[in-house]
Amino acid sequence: MKIILEARDVRYRYPGSPEAIKGISFHIRPGEKIALVGPNGAGKSTLLQMFNGMIRPDSGIMLFDSQPIRYDRSSLRQLRKRVGYVLQNSDRQIIAPTVYQDVAFGPANLGYDDQAIRNAVALALRQVGLEGFERRPPHHLSGGEKKRVAIAGVLAMDPDVLVFDEPTSGLDPSGSEDLMELLDELNHDGKTIIISTHDVELAYPWADRAILLLNGRILEEDVPDVAFGNLDHVRMAHLSVPTLLELSQELGRRGFAQPERKPRSVLDMINIIESLLHRSGNNTRMGTISVCNVDEQETAPLSAWVKIRPGLSVGAMGTRAKQCAAREQLALEFTYGVIDKCILRALRGQDSLILTTGSMVSRVAVRVEAYCRESGNTISVISLNTTNHPSVKGLINEEVRQNDPSCQKP
Ligand code: ADP
Repeated sequence: MKIILEARDVRYRYPGSPEAIKGISFHIRPGEKIALVGPNGAGKSTLLQMFNGMIRPDSGIMLFDSQPIRYDRSSLRQLRKRVGYVLQNSDRQIIAPTVYQDVAFGPANLGYDDQAIRNAVALALRQVGLEGFERRPPHHLSGGEKKRVAIAGVLAMDPDVLVFDEPTSGLDPSGSEDLMELLDELNHDGKTIIISTHDVELAYPWADRAILLLNGRILEEDVPDVAFGNLDHVRMAHLSVPTLLELSQELGRRGFAQPERKPRSVLDMINIIESLLHRSGNNTRMGTISVCNVDEQETAPLSAWVKIRPGLSVGAMGTRAKQCAAREQLALEFTYGVIDKCILRALRGQDSLILTTGSMVSRVAVRVEAYCRESGNTISVISLNTTNHPSVKGLINEEVRQNDPSCQKP
């Protein structure tokens, strides 16, 4: 299995201080979502800064793409193009007077020509949902928008790995959810994502693997339900067991059989509870989940279609989908954990529509299919894209026409 980042027994001491990193080894595979979790002072930021060579270990080796990291100026430049680092405090990362200039800084530094810089900035701003912000002074933006400018600055160099130090610090709960969703979107587009956090509720459902750090050492490194499942280690690290995991452990202690896979979401938990109650959703009518790629769909007929279905809930995955919903004045019920929430609705017999873009479309089908396989339920996913499915256009238009009083015969 390919490894993109690796630490081999790395150690580091800040001048005049006790050792901050005390012999750490691990590896990260391409496309993984990794959460480094630990209390303040555990060594998370120090370790993250080793990933793009900002900190050089006193001993041990850091490897990128199976090659030991080299610390001469030109090697570091190359490394930082491939491993982007987003600081905890966006004000320290944003340096230019306009959003455009700030995002252009990295590509300009790498020697891109003017057209390549313009393209890179446009793409990065599009990825983070800040098209149209080019001339804005970053320091007048909200915390969440500044964070996105900082991310765009890193994305403009098209790195393979994105490293985020405490990405949600300073953001309100809905800003944090939006940000985590953006990280998922970038991951889905192929980026390896590494975050540091002390928020177990955030790390537990999100990460593919969690690395628990304490006093410069690794306590646990595993899939989240194992990494957070050792109560002694979780306590030692001044953390808490994620609520869903605690609930499932409690059910186990009370003698209820536990599934092999621990619940990572409310949906997983509902499945466990339903199976404990010997109740399957098979007897009730399942709702459907429609999916629309808003990049490939005229949105006006779609929005008319939504408006004639009062029981339908609409969710959006990704920044462009959310912008589309705002433009079309579609009220969004879900903006985070969208697929699971729509599955939960389907289990109650209610229909949903997911607006999204690009490769996220297939993610919906894959997730619903995996859920159906595991649970034995059947939920239909319907594509509403007229480009691929001209018949759907007819369907949307026909339904809208039938419900439009001005189109009906007296
Ligand atoms: P975390 O990100 O988990 O809060 P850090 O990596 O920031 O942890 O810190 C690890 C240890 O290194 C702590 O004991 C901290 O006090 C120390 N440390 C961090 N930065 C510096 C610095 N610039 N100078 C001296 N000690 C530092």
